[in-house]
Amino acid sequence: MSLARARVPSPPIAPSAEWARAELASLEARRLLRRLEPVESRRGAVVRVGGRELVNFSSNDYLGLASDQRLAEAARRALAEGVGAGASRLISGDRSAHHSLEGRLAEFERAEAAVLFGNGYAANLGVLSALCGEGDVIFSDELNHASIVDGCRLSRARTVVYPHCDLEALERSLRAVPGRRRLVVTDAVFSMDGDLAPLEGLVKLCREHGAALVVDEAHATGVLGPRGEGLCEELGLSAFVDVRVGTLGKALGAYGAYAASSAPVQKLLVNRARSLVFSTALPPALCAAAQRAVELVEAEPQLRARLWRNIRAFAAALNRLGIPARPRSAIFPVVLGEPERALEAGQRLAEAGLWVKPIRPPTVPEGTSRLRFAISAAHSLEHIERVAAALEKAGLRGER
Ligand SMILES: *Cc1c(COP(=O)(O)O)cnc(C)c1O
Repeated sequence: MSLARARVPSPPIAPSAEWARAELASLEARRLLRRLEPVESRRGAVVRVGGRELVNFSSNDYLGLASDQRLAEAARRALAEGVGAGASRLISGDRSAHHSLEGRLAEFERAEAAVLFGNGYAANLGVLSALCGEGDVIFSDELNHASIVDGCRLSRARTVVYPHCDLEALERSLRAVPGRRRLVVTDAVFSMDGDLAPLEGLVKLCREHGAALVVDEAHATGVLGPRGEGLCEELGLSAFVDVRVGTLGKALGAYGAYAASSAPVQKLLVNRARSLVFSTALPPALCAAAQRAVELVEAEPQLRARLWRNIRAFAAALNRLGIPARPRSAIFPVVLGEPERALEAGQRLAEAGLWVKPIRPPTVPEGTSRLRFAISAAHSLEHIERVAAALEKAGLRGER
């Protein structure tokens, strides 16, 4: 016993722990260190965090469906068969729940076909790397979501990053950069700024230059459009967009994502999207919950009406404070500059009972740290007024 113990070498000093300590110290020095903060309980927009009740203005649960018991009930019923899908779709994880939801999503999007992904990150990785490869060119807005940036990298296509929403710059690049296949990709609603892609111009340029167009509707699904399909529907341009990526984890209150496209593209994604082929299928119970959410988005336009009432009230409140803001999406940035200022402002609002997480690099460019308000149908007008009062008290104006 004692001999055996003597032979065990003393634990090494893990090199990785040393690397991590050095990087963490550097993040801390630049005020860029982030920490997890678990939500202890949730009731609509009101959450308990660190023992305190706060109104949540940092959630993507735009329609309040994440805590809707009708979604939970749909999931519970499906759970009778167990939790995990057990394998990837192409091996043995494919279930009727996936096909049922995909059919419903294609109908919702009025697309020929839809295919599910584990989440929006995986969807962008899969779509871009399946459609493009070496010898191809992807034109990507400079403020596109990190998952699009990573999808471009995974594809090994040449990536041309164009200045934010700059159609003239994009046109110059489309004229100058040839490729086997060419594809333009954009967020519909930019996730940290809340502004909208110039979709009409993008459609026109793509048609003129024979490029495909991929639109990531993550923050627009359930929010924009007469039926809640997103920005493409809002502008009547769905038919001109090759692939629309939508998420089930934001306004739809569940988890997962999908790509709506033509039937051949859907089949290609099933064959080639690495994040679909090499990853376990979504749990069927989540599909049941998401399918209930799609039904509710269609059947209860009052959810969207309430969201937009709140969006308009919030924009008006910001304008009264001298902060320029327009009601174009559920996302409102108040840009403050250095990380320190955003952290302090977030702290002040937390003291007033409001949860608004500061957003710092690398999520946003250097010098544009901000508070980012996300408005939900779960908010009351009183919640909106409380934010306005707290912003005024804190003397926050923003730099926009
Ligand atoms: C949130 C988001 C994603 C990722 O979606 P998940 O389902 O959370 O992985 C992709 N694109 C954009 C624009 C997003 O905002």
